[in-house]
Amino acid sequence: MKQIISVRDLEEMLRNGGDVRSLPNDALLTPSARDFLRDLEGNGTYKAANGDPASRSAPAKISSKSSKADLDAFFRTPEIQQLKAEICEVGRRLWQRAYVDGNGGNIAVRVGEDIALCTPTLVSKGFMKPEDMCLVDLEGNQFCGGKKRTSEILMHLQIMKRQPRAVATVHCHPPHATAFAVAGVEPPSCMIPEIEVFIGRVPLAPYRTPGTPEMGKLVADLVEQHNTVLMGNHGAVSWSHVSVEDAYFKMEILEAYCRTVWVASQLGQPLKTFTPQQLQDLLKIKQTLGIPDPRIGLKECELCDNAEWRPGVSCAVPSGGQSSSRASTEHDGNPQTEEVVQRITDMIMERLGQ
Ligand SMILES: [Zn+2]
Repeated sequence: MKQIISVRDLEEMLRNGGDVRSLPNDALLTPSARDFLRDLEGNGTYKAANGDPASRSAPAKISSKSSKADLDAFFRTPEIQQLKAEICEVGRRLWQRAYVDGNGGNIAVRVGEDIALCTPTLVSKGFMKPEDMCLVDLEGNQFCGGKKRTSEILMHLQIMKRQPRAVATVHCHPPHATAFAVAGVEPPSCMIPEIEVFIGRVPLAPYRTPGTPEMGKLVADLVEQHNTVLMGNHGAVSWSHVSVEDAYFKMEILEAYCRTVWVASQLGQPLKTFTPQQLQDLLKIKQTLGIPDPRIGLKECELCDNAEWRPGVSCAVPSGGQSSSRASTEHDGNPQTEEVVQRITDMIMERLGQ
């Protein structure tokens, strides 16, 4: 199969000191990757000043080792101001959709090799201002920002350390997805295309006290393979290799999916799934978008395995005819009724036997 190259692949290549002229001759370039190469040629150079997508136009080589004055100046650059505004906007959407409660939820964006912007503690995500944002290193030490950084930042930083592609992370408590996490149920697969293409399988990390390094580790253990993770008895977290808005979109997709599956499971019919072949087609689209998925390359018989899926309610609505009387028998706990039904059933069986 021909290799498909996206802009992200090219940026990663440059970041690692690679030469984009060494691409295989038969590699397929996405349209935006082709534009990217054309721009590089136009500039007369194949070297990006700073390969990090989140800070391409920010001053180069800013890191946790930079002087306080340089970090302060960096923190006020138009590029960083823009990212702060984007974080506030995502926070507003999280709050409006009731994905966060009280001061819950947090957001981080990597802005250099080992530094990140993040949200403050004790502020509702719906009402943050750009000046509330904090600048930290990947150990959680805070360099800039008037307010104290969130205590849950450690999990975001552990994700970024484990997954170099993660430029942004969003954590929140969307009720339907969190309900799956409380029930210990992993969302089933092969039911709606969006989640398969933009997310994939959503694994469940066991509960640990929020903000502890142990909890961050259990989540980080899953982010090499998955861009969205359910956190047992807590909520969900996602990362994106593109932007903070893209990490937020994963939350919308996850929450809409969990809500839809939950409602569908009340309708009294077995839930329909698409076929492994149809999932293969979606995974091919996913590959062209440059989104990795551990299922790419699996055999069809290994896809759409919902063995773990165990909905709590599957027959609340009788479908009529025989099943209607069965449902009323099942749902009427009156022993007299049950005795009558049993006697009639016995009589019918007797007659049939004659
Ligand atoms: Zn939380």
